[in-house]
Amino acid sequence: MNSTPLDLAAAFTERFGTEPDGLWSAPGRVNVIGEHTDYNDGFVLPFALKHSTTVAAAVRPDRIVRVASTFAPDEAPVTVDLDTLEEGGIEGWAAYPLGVLWAMEQSGYRCPGMDLLVDSSVPVGAGLSSSAALECSVAVAANDLSQAGISRRELAVIGQLAENRMVGAPTGIMDQSASLLGEVGHAVFLDCRSGDSRLVPLDLEGAGLELMVIDTRVSHAHSTGGYAARRRSCELGAELMGVPALRDLSVPDLAEAAGVLDEETFRRVRHIVTENARVEDAVKVLTSTGPADLGPLLVASHASMRDDFEISCAELDAAVEASLEAGALGARMTGGGFGGAAIALARVDDVPAIRSAVESAFAAAGFRAPVIFSVLPGAGAARIA
Ligand code: ADP
Ligand code: MG
Repeated sequence: MNSTPLDLAAAFTERFGTEPDGLWSAPGRVNVIGEHTDYNDGFVLPFALKHSTTVAAAVRPDRIVRVASTFAPDEAPVTVDLDTLEEGGIEGWAAYPLGVLWAMEQSGYRCPGMDLLVDSSVPVGAGLSSSAALECSVAVAANDLSQAGISRRELAVIGQLAENRMVGAPTGIMDQSASLLGEVGHAVFLDCRSGDSRLVPLDLEGAGLELMVIDTRVSHAHSTGGYAARRRSCELGAELMGVPALRDLSVPDLAEAAGVLDEETFRRVRHIVTENARVEDAVKVLTSTGPADLGPLLVASHASMRDDFEISCAELDAAVEASLEAGALGARMTGGGFGGAAIALARVDDVPAIRSAVESAFAAAGFRAPVIFSVLPGAGAARIA
């Protein structure tokens, strides 16, 4: 639940007995297009959400950090000494915020001790990166409170380091980049090789559109193994094609790849190569005719993930098919696959019909009811009080 800034400041005082020095907020993200391209040095196009995580923080005179969450109101704050904090040394949710402070110090910045209370409106585990929202809210707070002057781009790397090394999740740089670099009415085009990014106009409201998120609430058991297997296929494909990463292949190279690779590896490679092209095409569409024309790219992206990369599942396919049948301009699964969420781009007037079509399709198939809501491109991380 998201409290208002005033509530969170009051809750902080109740928890820690002092007033916070300030409040910092960082959004979750949704990826419009560019799936599994990040670890292939490719392109992604996420946007920052209006859903965000807020942290109230106050500097302490020592090196102690205490962190609490409104998600665990009855838990005592997790308390650590920054001088004894070690890689992988924190279990559970506190590994995200404490990992950020650890990663800042690993990167050569000194953090003061501090008290932190976090609160969030980002749905957890729905593929909207509540984890990056949490990391980035703490990162901007710690950056301000320590007066370290760290750039947004480096803060994203610090968030990723926290997630990779303190939490132990092998994630890329997309989520933190979107959370830190996003702006209202824009998506973030990110080159995962160079780390360069560019804002791309995405005025959904102005175009009379909504981006619906359909959270299937399923997480299939083979998702971790499936992710690792896809990464291996991509590495193998790049090696056999003699390139550093699949990013270095383009669509015309696929003819040669078909002769070199086994049938399955070829299809994995074709997904990455065509997906990178679709991200670039999406940027062209957004900077020329606008978001209403993204539909065919979303549909092609889904087909590629379903047939070539084989990371969709019955629930995601049902969400996409029902959305399209009910008038969505485009739809695709988003995130790592094997469950999680789909997105559907729709005219505002068509949203209720699409929602009920998806709900009926899920009920008819005997699936658990999905959670459906709309998202808009919001601002990147910032101090809010
Ligand atoms: P996603 O990032 O897709 O939402 P993850 O599994 O990567 O899912 O991250 C979710 C985890 O992040 C939660 O299980 C929890 O440990 C942590 N988390 C996110 N937001 C909060 C919060 N407001 N308070 C405490 N923990 C949080
Ligand atoms: Mg996450």
